[in-house]
Amino acid sequence: MTDRLLHLDTLSVHAGLNQAAGKANPSVPSIVPSVGYTHPSMTDTDAALGYTGGDTPTDPDTFVYARHGGPNQAALEDAVAALEGAAGAVSFASGMAALHAAILTYVPTGGTVIAAEQLYGVTRSLLDWLGAHHNLRVEYADFLDVEASTDRIDTVRPQAVVCEVLTNPLARIIEIDRIRVACERVHAALLVDNTFATPYLLRPLDVGATAVVHSTTKFINGHGDVTGGVVAGPADAMQTAFQLRKLLGAVPSAFDAWLTLRGLRTFSLRMRQQCTSALTIAEWLANAPGIGKVYYPGLTSDAGHEVAERLFRGAGYGSIIAFDVQGVDRAGAFAFVEALKLIRPVTSLGDVYSLVLHPASASHRALTPEQRAAQGILEGTLRLSVGIEAAEDLIADLEQALSSIQ
Ligand code: PLP
Repeated sequence: MTDRLLHLDTLSVHAGLNQAAGKANPSVPSIVPSVGYTHPSMTDTDAALGYTGGDTPTDPDTFVYARHGGPNQAALEDAVAALEGAAGAVSFASGMAALHAAILTYVPTGGTVIAAEQLYGVTRSLLDWLGAHHNLRVEYADFLDVEASTDRIDTVRPQAVVCEVLTNPLARIIEIDRIRVACERVHAALLVDNTFATPYLLRPLDVGATAVVHSTTKFINGHGDVTGGVVAGPADAMQTAFQLRKLLGAVPSAFDAWLTLRGLRTFSLRMRQQCTSALTIAEWLANAPGIGKVYYPGLTSDAGHEVAERLFRGAGYGSIIAFDVQGVDRAGAFAFVEALKLIRPVTSLGDVYSLVLHPASASHRALTPEQRAAQGILEGTLRLSVGIEAAEDLIADLEQALSSIQ
């Protein structure tokens, strides 16, 4: 389902509902846990085994063995492809598996990647691992400096460029529409992790990204009860991603794919509420005594505000806020987190309930203190993922935690 005329609000409710026509069909997809599929003839089985992937919507005649995917995975893939405006999508058992597949899809052995310094810490660890063990050359650049990073892309001529639109953990905005120009000049694939921004704020393919990756564990599912990932992009690349999934076996279970699609049905409502509350909370934090720097592109004082206006075109600014608790070391940051009563200290984001995380000890633990400091991640920096609760209750929780440590 790729009807560009439908709004995102409508697509997130209806996409992926391609069911076989019959006299009576369930109005929501059934869960199909079957490992194997029978076909009318061995010729049909032969054809199903020869399916190479990449199509959206997926032809149900291609289902043959659960590691290759099935109706629930296909429905989720159709939905994400529709939301991102992609020709196809392939789902994975986690966001990291999806990122790995995207990199292997676009970068040959001995190839080069230029990645943003501003990345989820584990994505950086994956790239470093591939660099150390799999003959990939990896270089990092400060993507907030567009001129310097595009100069590096022009000089190094990598096969792929990897970045996030809204970065983990500081919600900095990367100008992918400008980075894309350099990628086109040197024929590099621009691989964009859209986990934080989501298609609610921006569809990276619309502004020149080659392929999009999601940790569907986050906003796409939104309920903190499924781990998953997806790659969306052109049909030929999705064929490669499909083959990689078949070989590596990083397929989500039927139930996980079903549950993710179930979570997606309220995606627009959740995002609207979360973006509205996040702006209110960021404005409160920006004036709160005891709080230092606040990172949120919705604040007019934020370095990324103008770019957010250009790229997100009024859709909102996301639900992730980062801020520094003033004058605290790690123990002080931990004390603040432990004092929170409503906001949960969970190492994830994008859920219906608000979550707080200490990047230096969690998402960016593998980086050196110097690497973290270069990005602005300090011992007192916290990442807040705003949920769908009343903003006033969340502010009251932050306020009481602040006064308890002062
Ligand atoms: N990309 C981003 C931006 C993330 O924040 C995460 C996880 O936090 C991932 C990818 C990896 O996703 P998963 O935990 O589903 O493997």
